[in-house]
Amino acid sequence: MSLGNISVIGCGTMGNGIAHVFAQTGFAVNLIDIKEGLLSTAYKNIETNLNRQLKKDKISGQDVKDTLSRINLSTDYALAKDSIVVVEAASEDKKIKEDIFKRLDEICGPDTILATNTSSISITEIAAVTKRPQNVVGMHFMNPVPLMKLIEIIRGLATSDACYAKIESISGQLGKTPVEVNDYPGFISNRLLMPMINEAIFCLMEGVAEKEAIDTVMILGMNHPMGPLTLADFIGLDVCLSIMNVLYNGLNDPKFRPCPLLKKMVAAGYLGRKSKRGFYTYE
Ligand code: NAD
Repeated sequence: MSLGNISVIGCGTMGNGIAHVFAQTGFAVNLIDIKEGLLSTAYKNIETNLNRQLKKDKISGQDVKDTLSRINLSTDYALAKDSIVVVEAASEDKKIKEDIFKRLDEICGPDTILATNTSSISITEIAAVTKRPQNVVGMHFMNPVPLMKLIEIIRGLATSDACYAKIESISGQLGKTPVEVNDYPGFISNRLLMPMINEAIFCLMEGVAEKEAIDTVMILGMNHPMGPLTLADFIGLDVCLSIMNVLYNGLNDPKFRPCPLLKKMVAAGYLGRKSKRGFYTYE
């Protein structure tokens, strides 16, 4: 028996993880993207990740089959019509997200909650393009979604208590721990994480220590699973710069100014793992 219909918009890194956890919990999931070819790749990723859980004896072969059978791949937004919640996990671009929310607002019934997984765009501003700002909320999953316990639930200025309560309850059903955060640039996760990474880059630029030393201090001294420069390479230096700019411009505070070395590396195309070169080099 299905727990109800959920739609996920965007089947990239985050979208396929979000579809995975909803389907595994028992929801029927429409996974919707504009690029048909990406949908089959997303499905294969979900299958691979489920099989990994199977190998570790975390789930049964039947669970893998049941989870996959609950996922419906499509390029048709109209399928989102009767969803309890639509989670938007499309590319981090304000214009793209506003267009998606305008479309969903027309397609979906008035009770459907429209959630966004954005890392840095204002929930209040996204909500303002719809006629249901009370039913728009941030549902910020962490990467990799099946493994990470946290969901930052971000209340836009108009998000209703009922909408918040529903998303909090669904987050619990997914086996995640929800945390309530108000809509300010960077929310909590990136407001704290990105300035730490940015400061590590300042330390490198000023010659306070070598990159390996900076990472080692945070791994062995603070028990972080990886150092800030390694993490920056993993996230993508362009993404780090863009989030620092959101903090700097959104809070109008010079303490969030992006490090010049970060800007220079992005300008050079040294974006981290995805370009095989960042603070470290990758084969
Ligand atoms: P991604 O680039 O891997 O995937 C984005 C997907 O959106 C692509 O498949 C693309 O085809 C699709 N898309 C673009 N426009 C669309 C549209 N109009 N309709 C439907 N699909 C569309 O991106 P990602 O890393 O999965 O990030 C998605 C969102 O999650 C972003 O808002 C990002 O800030 C946020 N986020 C990312 C991470 C992370 O670690 N990657 C963590 C937390 C939150």
